[in-house]
Amino acid sequence: MDSKVVVLRYGHRTGRDDRVTTHCCLVARAFGANKIIIIGKEDKGIKESVQKVCNTWGGPFSVEFASSWQEELKRLKQQGFIAVHLTMYGKPIQDIIDNVRKHKKVVVIIGSKKVEIGVYRESDYNVAITKQPHSEIAALAVFLDWYFNGKELNKRFSGAKIILTEKDEKPKKRK
Ligand code: SAM
Repeated sequence: MDSKVVVLRYGHRTGRDDRVTTHCCLVARAFGANKIIIIGKEDKGIKESVQKVCNTWGGPFSVEFASSWQEELKRLKQQGFIAVHLTMYGKPIQDIIDNVRKHKKVVVIIGSKKVEIGVYRESDYNVAITKQPHSEIAALAVFLDWYFNGKELNKRFSGAKIILTEKDEKPKKRK
């Protein structure tokens, strides 16, 4: 996987979105993204819980907080990233993924609260994972899996203290 993928979590609401945002971080890491930028008030709890996962299961993966999605997107675009916004109003993933895959630096924008029109406008691709309303966690997982063509399923994480193998597949019998 020679690509660089950053996830931009739009509109994180402290308290209300903590659990979902943490799951976005975990999915981003597990499915091959390098970093997540969360737009909202810095929350050490989220950073620490993701860092704990990285310490045990490996990395590298980083979590940052920022106040302005516009500034973050501008900076990433200057670095050569293209912007993919996940929304049910976008073009079906199955129709455009081949074009997206041509780009090796991608910022994936996922919402929480209603996403403002500027995000649609500033994005190079608005991509729908089905035309049904569901969840940013699910949309992110499916997008990354399609983008990486399933290769992320075999990703190795450096510095992992625990690596599950085939032997670990069966849960132990409960007494
Ligand atoms: N209520 C918000 C609104 O009306 O825009 C959206 C809520 S939804 C739970 C949060 C995020 O999930 C969206 O911003 C989008 O990134 C993602 N999402 C939900 N359904 C999607 C779909 N079918 N395709 C792509 N992304 C989707």
